Amino acid sequence: MDSKIYDVIITGAGPGGTSLAASLANTGLHVLILEKQRFPRYKVCGGGVTRRALLKMPVDISPVIRDQITTFVTVEGDQEIQEFKHKTPFIYMVMRTEMDQLLAKHAVDCGAELKEDAFVIKVVEHNDQVNVYTRNQQYSCRYLIGADGVNSIVAKQSGLMSGRRKALALEYELKCDRITTVNYKNKVVIDYTSVPDGYAWVFPKNDILSAGIGSYSLNQKQMSRYLLSFLDKRKLSGYLLSAKGSFLSAGGVRQKIMTQRTALIGDAAGLVDSFAGEGIYYALWSAALLAERLKETIKDGHRDAFAAYQNDVDQLILPELRALDQFGREFYKDPKFMQKMVARFPKLLNLVFDVLQGKRDYFKLYKKFIIVKSYGRFLNLKTS
Ligand SMILES: Cc1cc2nc3c(=O)[nH]c(=O)nc-3n(C[C@H](O)[C@H](O)[C@H](O)COP(=O)(O)OP(=O)(O)OC[C@H]3O[C@@H](n4cnc5c(N)ncnc54)[C@H](O)[C@@H]3O)c2cc1C
Repeated sequence: MDSKIYDVIITGAGPGGTSLAASLANTGLHVLILEKQRFPRYKVCGGGVTRRALLKMPVDISPVIRDQITTFVTVEGDQEIQEFKHKTPFIYMVMRTEMDQLLAKHAVDCGAELKEDAFVIKVVEHNDQVNVYTRNQQYSCRYLIGADGVNSIVAKQSGLMSGRRKALALEYELKCDRITTVNYKNKVVIDYTSVPDGYAWVFPKNDILSAGIGSYSLNQKQMSRYLLSFLDKRKLSGYLLSAKGSFLSAGGVRQKIMTQRTALIGDAAGLVDSFAGEGIYYALWSAALLAERLKETIKDGHRDAFAAYQNDVDQLILPELRALDQFGREFYKDPKFMQKMVARFPKLLNLVFDVLQGKRDYFKLYKKFIIVKSYGRFLNLKTS
């Protein structure tokens, strides 16, 4: 047993956990991160960091950026449907193995303690502290933060997130020849029409391509079939570096994400855009909101400040995730209609680029979409 009482223990060293740790350690708080794996560790993820997420990073991640996206291409199997170019990059491509290690190192440089191979199995909350148990050690803290992803043990043990929603995702990482990787450079390629209730993607990472599929209605077996057929139609092949499935959180519904001394951030709190699957931005955003509340509580002695985090998430993050959820439901009902609408009103996509770059929020964009959608129906934009 470690007899020290930490100010804060964070379970999970993803971008949410390590950015929170860095921010708290910078103000002199005693912070411990417990991570079940050892760095460098793999994380199933497309590795697309939107510009708005980049702006929230606690440290410069340019050393691990492998590509910058300026072109968005929609396809239907082997057919290219539309190509949209933007003057400046709106997404940056990373390998999570590299980015997460860089962020973890930054947290340690700021003064946080990091224990790897520390699989949290149990948490017990008392009035004045929380005890955290790994497979072979016990730790104590004043506040416990679950940043342990979509299968969060902290959420389960604390009775939080009972209404968690998930999609299934499958990702292949392929080392491809030069001609293929040059062909995909600077572009994301998305097929919205071949996958029920979801989409397939190709993201470039220099000599590696990440190709994957996410869906709300396919099972594991069907996912592999769809992904293989997508790769076949795109004529994509290469040396398979990894093929891994994972659940993907889906946000948009209010969830209880805290108790008296425990709170969740990022995927553990279900804060992921259920339309596109963007989650890094929300992990960083929720971490920043909670960092402020923890500083007020522990450093400034405002004991009620911690509880205000639930309200922060409900007021600031949830409306956007709710709008995206509504949009996603509309979109996946009839993706071809949506593609036609974008072709007819290309300015809509400029608004999306603005959102990804952090210049406007999705909430306002959704309101515009509702108006344009009615107009599209009025124009009778047929899908076949
Ligand atoms: C296939 C797929 C593609 C995606 N693509 C993108 C994308 O392109 N862009 C984007 O923005 N988002 C994407 N996402 C979502 C993104 O991966 C997550 O939203 C993001 O990683 C959330 O960060 P986090 O810090 O909350 O949790 P995570 O990054 O999931 O980190 C959780 C950490 O907790 C550790 N952990 C888990 N359990 C325990 C335990 N019991 N004890 C100790 N440690 C534990 C894990 O090892 C991990 O290091 C994708 C997700 C999937 C599944």
